[in-house]
Amino acid sequence: MADGGLFARWPVIRQLRGQDGRGQAARSARTDALRPRVEEADSVARSVCPYCAVGCGQLVYVKDGKVSQIEGDPDSPISRGRLCPKGSASKQLVTHAGRQTTVLYRRPYGTEWEPLDLGTAMEMIADRVTRTRRDTWQQEHEGKVVRRTLGIAGLGGATLDNEENYLMKKLYTALGAIQVENQARI
Ligand code: SF4
Repeated sequence: MADGGLFARWPVIRQLRGQDGRGQAARSARTDALRPRVEEADSVARSVCPYCAVGCGQLVYVKDGKVSQIEGDPDSPISRGRLCPKGSASKQLVTHAGRQTTVLYRRPYGTEWEPLDLGTAMEMIADRVTRTRRDTWQQEHEGKVVRRTLGIAGLGGATLDNEENYLMKKLYTALGAIQVENQARI
């Protein structure tokens, strides 16, 4: 029987020899030329996926001051390097061409969105927060000092990351708001 015959065609032998379509048999010059996407990153930062309550660990790679890749963090005891499709695509939160990058405002009873420059929008928000806090401030409630406002509440979105939520909680607490919640619950 040619070339070892039946023994040579035995799958275990073919796998050991790299002839079964895997290992060396599946490699090509292009395979050998492929490089990891993160190889040229300038730095990497640890973060947490903002999408859901699992809180998978992420490695955020940066090149030339921009996010170049986001991958699972093998050192995370929560996810051990894994990300679901949403977490794997979270780079698009900062890079996708379809992201909304300008302020849109719909005035009370308005039916259309109006573009606003960022400075104007920030002034409007600051005015409303200041006015609401002043008008709804409670120094005491039922004989107890509470120093709070029930006129301001915070509801974070799922795509806010850990660090953003931390800063927002500090701001709301400083304002005296006690109704602070986040959809992600990380
Ligand atoms: S969305 Fe996916 S990757 Fe992100 S925390 Fe949840 S399970 Fe993990």
